[in-house]
Amino acid sequence: MLETLRNIVQEVNAAEGLDDALGIIVRRVRVAMHTEVCSVYMRDASSERFIFRATEGLNQELVGVASLAAGEGLVGLVAEREEPVNLENAENHPSFQFLPGIGEEQYHAFLGVPIIHQRDVLGVLVVQQAHRRRFDESDEAFLVTMSAQLAGVIAHAQVTGALREDILPGEGGAQAKIGGVPGAPGVAIGTAVVISPNADLYAVPAREAEDRRQELRAFRDALQSVRKDIQAVAENLGSELNPEDHALFDVYLGILDDSAIGAEVISRIKGGQWAQGALSQVMIQHIRHFERMEHSYLKERAVDVKDLGTRVLAYLQAEDKQELSYPDHTILVSEELTASSLGEIPREKLAGLISVRGSGNSHVAILARAMGVPTVMGAVDLPYTRLQDREVVIDGYNGNVYLNPLPEVIQKFREVLDEDRALSLDLESLRDLPCVTLDGHRMPLWVNTGLMADVTRSLEQGAEGVGLFRTEVPFLLRERFPSEEEQRQIYRNQLAAFAPRPVTMRTLDIGGDKALPYFPIEEDNPFLGWRGIRVTLDHPEIFLAQVRAMLKANEGLGNLRIMLPMVCNVSELEEALDLIHRSHREVVQEGFAGDLPPIGVMVEVPAAVYQARAMARRVDFLSVGSNDLTQYLLAVDRNNARVADLYHSLHPAVLQALAAVAAASKAENIPLGICGELAGEPEGAVLLLAMGYDMLSMNATSLPKVKKALRNVNVAEARDLLAQVMLLEEAGAVQQRLEHFLAEHGMEKFIHHPVE
Ligand code: PEP
Ligand code: MG
Repeated sequence: MLETLRNIVQEVNAAEGLDDALGIIVRRVRVAMHTEVCSVYMRDASSERFIFRATEGLNQELVGVASLAAGEGLVGLVAEREEPVNLENAENHPSFQFLPGIGEEQYHAFLGVPIIHQRDVLGVLVVQQAHRRRFDESDEAFLVTMSAQLAGVIAHAQVTGALREDILPGEGGAQAKIGGVPGAPGVAIGTAVVISPNADLYAVPAREAEDRRQELRAFRDALQSVRKDIQAVAENLGSELNPEDHALFDVYLGILDDSAIGAEVISRIKGGQWAQGALSQVMIQHIRHFERMEHSYLKERAVDVKDLGTRVLAYLQAEDKQELSYPDHTILVSEELTASSLGEIPREKLAGLISVRGSGNSHVAILARAMGVPTVMGAVDLPYTRLQDREVVIDGYNGNVYLNPLPEVIQKFREVLDEDRALSLDLESLRDLPCVTLDGHRMPLWVNTGLMADVTRSLEQGAEGVGLFRTEVPFLLRERFPSEEEQRQIYRNQLAAFAPRPVTMRTLDIGGDKALPYFPIEEDNPFLGWRGIRVTLDHPEIFLAQVRAMLKANEGLGNLRIMLPMVCNVSELEEALDLIHRSHREVVQEGFAGDLPPIGVMVEVPAAVYQARAMARRVDFLSVGSNDLTQYLLAVDRNNARVADLYHSLHPAVLQALAAVAAASKAENIPLGICGELAGEPEGAVLLLAMGYDMLSMNATSLPKVKKALRNVNVAEARDLLAQVMLLEEAGAVQQRLEHFLAEHGMEKFIHHPVE
């Protein structure tokens, strides 16, 4: 049963569009369940009707023609009740509705299950039989399982299929709005440039060849190189292989032959595709073909074909590496954006970013916010490989991407752009003013940094210090661990650029969604795994080198602060402190002058909230990492778009935790800061002021907005607001109350609702 289920889902997954997918479903389910009829009715969002979209056993001619209104007939009943309906004799049921011409008169037994994706009823899957009998429990369970598994695939095919047919071919196609997750605020109108991860056949953008002859040459060279590689492997393995295995290598070479797959690729290139696109399209077709085969030996050959295709692609990409050119207003699109991909494009050309994977608090989104680049994350239904060179609008405030945008939509976004420009001009005038509330309370505003480019931006925005230097960023951009001396120089640059302002350097925080290419950590649950201080305590050589580099860089400046990430136990903190003390003794012995800098700990896991006082007694400052604290308190992976709606940094539980840490730091009388993204939200900043936070650290782009907000309020009214908000029991209510507060204080410009 499981095998059948898996095969059907796999086949549907490989379908080319919605009709193909539904066709496979009705065919395969009918056979698997030994029934006479299997049909799918899909809900049409505009008419709210259930359209008869695919069938095996009923009248094919009515496919796309017959339909039922919501709540009408048994199909409507299944959809309305959102649960299966299983009947021995359908026409005896009061809801039964006769659809003339569809041909179901002879079928009595009826089993319908809803197809539900993310709480939405997409359609109804029905099986029918002539024989009067109730489908048994296992039939019902099978169909329910089938439908639950297929719902996601169908939803995806629905969006991308619609795009394929209506939007992408002609310039005049309909507009499509694809929902994602807000990544970095701002809007952008620009041209898509799709970048693909290395050698991934499924992520190659379709693109026209600029020079067909050159593409042909590149393809033939790549083929030749792979052939040589395979021959070399075969020769190396020579005597270890038996004749059948040797024959396999001949098969591989045959597949690559000019007259086989090679010929198909060549003909596509001659038709105008670039070599990578032509190769990927042909290889994917063949892989699908093999995957659909019943025979398991042949099915497994799909893996070989994929491997060969990937090898050829790798050669083509190596050849093309330098050739990617970026138009003005580039919107960089990728299946999974990484920190290093941001570095590849000149900043002045970059207007926006779209990542199909990841979520609003993925680290790449945080970097994008720091750079001030509007970003949409988690646009899972975006047919991203087909967007090269197309005009795209992104709304980073609300997490939407518009394809084939209508002129009036572009106009609305131009207005938003103009307003944003005016607002930032207005905010610029605050640059040299202090962040003081109306009643004279001073709130230091610091910045979070990681890239050297952040320095200028931060200073331009009037940063008073660095509350978080993410040291892993320079580690991410390299091909090996930086040496102690290389690190010393990087840290020296940061410290010197901000001196005499304080710079808080966090020790290496890798793991989670930050994997170093040269130090891979593969885990089922990376955010609950080997991360942050856990890694560096297990590798004292990495930790010691880093701390030594920081201490040496601090010589003669004295503005360093050291901060420890992901601490869950007092023992971890003590071990880390021992290592820091040891490094300090060592560098002093080596002749470097300088006192031990202030040392702080991040409060970013629930355990640290409850032990904040114990932690506080051992260090010089606390700093809340609200990004992780939110994900761990709410059990919502910050990197997962599917649960992004549940990630809410204004959730009452998060607010309680933030207030508890403030109370703990007060009780122990040590300074408390926050360096999570919440500090950069104007409404968040007002609450943190009221809770008694001593410093807010945020991305440089947010700083002027926060300054504006705090200069507009006084502490008494912020405390009033906090008292009201702490009584609310739901994140949405908190959000609403805060938006209302901003509006009351003339800051409605900080609130952005989606353009319809
Ligand atoms: C945090 O978790 O809030 C934080 C500031 O650290 P990072 O976002 O780098 O995990
Ligand atoms: Mg963190």
